[in-house]
Amino acid sequence: MIDLRSDTVTNPSKEMLDFMFHAKLGDDVFEEDPTVNELQEYAASLFGKEAALYCSSGTQTNQIAINLHVNPGGEVICHKDSHVYKYEGGGIAKNSGASTRIITGDRGRITVEEIQKWINPEDDVHYPLTQLICIEDTSNRGGGAVYDFDEIKRIKKFCNERNLPLHLDGARLFNALVENQIGYKEYANQFDSISICLSKGLGAPVGSLLLGNKDFIYNARRVRKVFGGGMRQAGIIAAGGLFALKNNINRLKTDHKHAKLIEKALQANHSIESVIPVETNIVVFELKAHGQIDEFLDKLAQNGILALPFGKGMIRMVTHMDVDESAIHKTCECIASLD
Ligand SMILES: *Cc1c(COP(=O)(O)O)cnc(C)c1O
Repeated sequence: MIDLRSDTVTNPSKEMLDFMFHAKLGDDVFEEDPTVNELQEYAASLFGKEAALYCSSGTQTNQIAINLHVNPGGEVICHKDSHVYKYEGGGIAKNSGASTRIITGDRGRITVEEIQKWINPEDDVHYPLTQLICIEDTSNRGGGAVYDFDEIKRIKKFCNERNLPLHLDGARLFNALVENQIGYKEYANQFDSISICLSKGLGAPVGSLLLGNKDFIYNARRVRKVFGGGMRQAGIIAAGGLFALKNNINRLKTDHKHAKLIEKALQANHSIESVIPVETNIVVFELKAHGQIDEFLDKLAQNGILALPFGKGMIRMVTHMDVDESAIHKTCECIASLD
């Protein structure tokens, strides 16, 4: 099967498994797992942040960050299609008792003007206090769109003026950084906290990292424990993440090239209404006949290709390291045959 449902479906390579098999282990709740410690230190230094925390998932890193930045009754500003709002089970409300101001922006991205418009006045008791701005780069529902770095800098400048923290859901941050060529440290410097996923395009089996300053990560460790995320000999899985950070970043460009090929095949197919412009490894497209989603997915599956229904007549395909060039050509031929 050519599984394009998500970049989370990858299996660890033989080299990664070997590396995991030989990892030195200890109890990470005691902060004694040398592999977890190495991963955290490596990631923190890569991004020029003081500290990092290895967590079980990107939902967990996002939710811990939100919990630390926001008080019950406070408000988070984010895009209406953002993962933190749409795909984390209402966690902002459930875990942190906070409300959400959702913004409509271009392909999952929000602008500083939009934030300025929706921020609540501090001197009017009717409104919840805006306490956090959260952005997602690349944007999943935005079809893998990459933020303009100048916009991020404008947002950060405004956040500084208003004393507001800025959190990045960087589940696919490396997909953005191999495209925009911004230096890791320069980019990370714009954010108070960053979540990155090791289990997406980087191909590790489990885990995400939360990055921030020392105090923030010290407090994050407590919240992770409260959320049930304190793990013991976690080095066995953290090793996969360390291997991924050291070996699998630059090859993401190949996934992007593959996604572009799929985009081209889709654009030539008359049953497709539109494709969100492909910038990274995500291809989101809309069928002309919204009612024919199941039929379209079935036909793909009959040809050994799996894609994900993405709501409102849309389908998502994500390229990743377990889908090679010949599988991409097969996918493009199949799309052409479905015209
Ligand atoms: C996948 C993803 C996450 C985290 O998901 P987990 O499955 O909890 O690791 C967060 N944000 C975005 C944009 C994602 O695509």
